[in-house]
Amino acid sequence: MKNKIFVSAMVFVLSLTIVCGCGGKAENDVKSDAKIIRGRMLAVENTEEKTVCLTFDDGPTPVTERVLDVLKEYGIKATFFVIGKNAERYKDILRRIFAEGHTVGIHTYSHEYKKIYASPAALADDIKRCLCVIKAVNSEYEPIFYRFPGGSFGLSEELLKVPDSMGLTSVDWNASCRDSEVRSADALSLCAFARETAGKKTKVIMLLHDAADKSTTADALPRIVNDFKEREFSFISLEKVVKIS
Ligand SMILES: [Zn+2]
Repeated sequence: MKNKIFVSAMVFVLSLTIVCGCGGKAENDVKSDAKIIRGRMLAVENTEEKTVCLTFDDGPTPVTERVLDVLKEYGIKATFFVIGKNAERYKDILRRIFAEGHTVGIHTYSHEYKKIYASPAALADDIKRCLCVIKAVNSEYEPIFYRFPGGSFGLSEELLKVPDSMGLTSVDWNASCRDSEVRSADALSLCAFARETAGKKTKVIMLLHDAADKSTTADALPRIVNDFKEREFSFISLEKVVKIS
């Protein structure tokens, strides 16, 4: 019998320790606060099945190509939350992301915290600018996912409403390889963090980065993938675990 479980709350509070997602917040900003996944998890038919969604923030950059090579090798579809200004610079890499069947989400145009979080209108403008860049590469694509730079944690209600008002579902994460916080971590450590932060969860949304300075993440990716495969996780797209607004 199918068990459809809909977590009705708009937020899904997690009990693990994860810090901010992307650059911009202090590196020592390690919080024990619960993180929040926005977006309604989980509309899944088999709650026992172990699944992991790989999400990459801050690309596209040349590192993205290495990530794409690994994903292709393993036959995995991931989600790329792209920064508009990077997509403008690396249009061909964004084209490859589309061509290889991955999901593209919005991660603002500038990723400049002071600018985007100055007001709801400023955030909306920045998101629209990113959308324009994506549309310039693939006019038929309609992004449905958005990720707040730094995650949604601690933002005002007014800011949190912005993506919703634009028809976007914002999604945080519930596990992280911690590549943005522990900058000196080697591939082995990133893999250990991914496993540790995933803990005993059966529905994992993993935060990784494909920024230009994250080549170690690309190095770690095969190890992370194998580690989850060995524990019988299947890799699925975000669309399958996040209920769209
Ligand atoms: Zn980011």
